[in-house]
Amino acid sequence: MIKPRMREELYINLNPLQRGGIVPAEARKTALAYVDGYSTCDYCPGTLHLMKKPPIQDFLKEVAEFLNMNTAILTHGCREAKLIIMRSITTPRQTIVVDSNKHYTTQVAAELAGLEMVEVPNSGYPNFAIKPEDYANTIEQVKKKTGEPPALGLLTHVDWLYGNLVDAAAVGEICQEYGVPFLLNAAYSSGRMPIDGNLLRADFITCSGHKSWAAGAGTVGIIAMKKEWEKKIMRPSGHYKVKPLELLGCTTRGTSALTLMASFPRVKERIKNWSEEVEKARWFSAQMESLGGIRQLGEKPHCHDLLRFETPLLNRIAQRHKRRGYYLYEELRERKIVGIKPGRTKGLDLSTYQLKKEQMSYVIDNFNDIVNKLSGRN
Ligand SMILES: *Cc1c(COP(=O)(O)O)cnc(C)c1O
Repeated sequence: MIKPRMREELYINLNPLQRGGIVPAEARKTALAYVDGYSTCDYCPGTLHLMKKPPIQDFLKEVAEFLNMNTAILTHGCREAKLIIMRSITTPRQTIVVDSNKHYTTQVAAELAGLEMVEVPNSGYPNFAIKPEDYANTIEQVKKKTGEPPALGLLTHVDWLYGNLVDAAAVGEICQEYGVPFLLNAAYSSGRMPIDGNLLRADFITCSGHKSWAAGAGTVGIIAMKKEWEKKIMRPSGHYKVKPLELLGCTTRGTSALTLMASFPRVKERIKNWSEEVEKARWFSAQMESLGGIRQLGEKPHCHDLLRFETPLLNRIAQRHKRRGYYLYEELRERKIVGIKPGRTKGLDLSTYQLKKEQMSYVIDNFNDIVNKLSGRN
């Protein structure tokens, strides 16, 4: 038998990948209720996004409104969302422009779609900031080189490494000026913070249910789009008029979709607390830095719960410790704190999303304790 996983029950989990995907109790019940194969298909109208029972169609309408876009559809994840868009609106060998803080899934989706990628540079160490105006320079470069504007402009709204939040409206405005369709990759932003796609001038928003919409039971993502793209993205199979070709008829059918729906009321509520989440992350960052020999990288003051630190202090301890880099993971685990990479002490990646102030204080106190115990500074 596979042992039950008790991370959220028994530990404080700092894993930045996981904090936004923790499923509330009521949605866990829904997940179980739809765990049987094709359980979404009792009243199938021919394709998933038109389903009335369970009310997937209505849910998607609400999601589109929530993001202030026109249409929303389900995908298996954010990466699949990006691939579907790329394949639908570009042709192989065209060039797209992306930020250099992109996720690897942007690269592999572009690769699979046969696209050339040109990157907008970041400012380098220590902030690694993406400047919106550099999108204009990069688009100009592409125009000069290929004789046409890029087929797509993609921005990672909040990147997965530094947790930098980019001014998407400014990038959207530049893309619009050049007539370049704008894809906002909101894997780390939508579901955590308020997003107004219209204000940000996004043609497409891609989301990750298991990353940021409290829908961890499986894999699920969203494409939200402007009306004018609907025909291209939803183009039907030549043989089955009701089956969108890029979606292979239906995407995620079962527990994943239903968990996303069941968690949605909570998600709508939790985004209202975003400024508190940012305050918490800033507080945590300052506390970590006050240990000395720890520095937060990326944007400062920070505007997201994902934090990356460089940690020479922790690395110095590793060099003298018999467990080497593993001491930190082991010490934290003993104190019921998990989610940092075993063996790594040069840097730390973590998220404070939805942690209580007491839990964050507990984590800080224990970092302090571990450092005092092992660095001999007591
Ligand atoms: C996590 C992440 C993804 C991948 O999301 P999936 O839903 O697992 O495909 C894509 N982009 C960014 C920026 C991410 O952080």
